[in-house]
Amino acid sequence: MKNITKNLAKKILYTLYTPKLPQGRIQLGYIFHTEQIYDQKLFTQLLGFCESYQKITGKRPICTLMTGVNPLVAEGMKAHGVSAEDYVNRARQLSEVSTLGYHGHFWSEVSKLHDPSSQIKGRRAAEPALKTQFEKDLQWFKSNGLNHNGIYSGGWWFMSEQVQKLLVQHGFLLDFTFSKAPYFRNPYSQDLMQKNQIRIGEVCRIEEQLFCIQNFIGCHTTPFIGDFYRNMRKLLTEDEQPNSPIHGVVNSHDYDLDVVNTLKCIEALKKDPSVEFYDAQDFQSQLARKSKSIKSVSLSPDPGKHSKSVGPQRDHQTLE
Ligand SMILES: [Zn+2]
Repeated sequence: MKNITKNLAKKILYTLYTPKLPQGRIQLGYIFHTEQIYDQKLFTQLLGFCESYQKITGKRPICTLMTGVNPLVAEGMKAHGVSAEDYVNRARQLSEVSTLGYHGHFWSEVSKLHDPSSQIKGRRAAEPALKTQFEKDLQWFKSNGLNHNGIYSGGWWFMSEQVQKLLVQHGFLLDFTFSKAPYFRNPYSQDLMQKNQIRIGEVCRIEEQLFCIQNFIGCHTTPFIGDFYRNMRKLLTEDEQPNSPIHGVVNSHDYDLDVVNTLKCIEALKKDPSVEFYDAQDFQSQLARKSKSIKSVSLSPDPGKHSKSVGPQRDHQTLE
């Protein structure tokens, strides 16, 4: 009953008032936190969505993926009877309809997966266990011939100097962990953006290499396109003057995607002259082109090392 009243109120509201995006172009991508493709139903749904998204926008969405050696995924694979090989095959199929990236979730003790105190989120300092899992995940991509394309998004929106250093060291190019939306905030990211006066939709670079592109909002699960505009406007007022043009992504998990309503929203945005859809390749090439005008943030040098003397191991210089 509550929902019916709410929907009716929205219907009336959006008939009387159509929220609009502000002037200036929004360069918009779509990113998935891909966590449960061991579930056949979710996997099939995601493949179908990526194909439809590409048909509408002419661009590929980005699927940042938890690896087959992530302990939480391993648990799900076991429960769904999906072998290591099957999981890799699904990742490969996904790479045909999207641009793959890496989605990291880390624990201080992998034996305590479901204990929140073991989950590395919020304001955690450098942890040896994180580095081990990060490197194990990258090895999984490499040994299975899967390309993460130098793209990262942090699980639980977790970001830290340790993660940024690992990303730079391993040649990553695009990070999609930062956000100013209340649900997706992380204290380290907030501090960094505040200290460097990074506005909504403004991209910054870490060590002149890693472009950090913000998440705007999640794609909503209601039939009202007006909800998207209203929530975007609300977010844009977080800053007195958002950056222009604005770069960013909207996000979903594979397990909370509302296919029908999200595609309806994408279709409406495609017709909106203030929105231009971007895929990973567009972000990379456009940002690289104007990189001189993008703020660069330096990380603190490791004790005993001069940051300039250590070159990054760039195993992913270009996007495929
Ligand atoms: Zn996640």
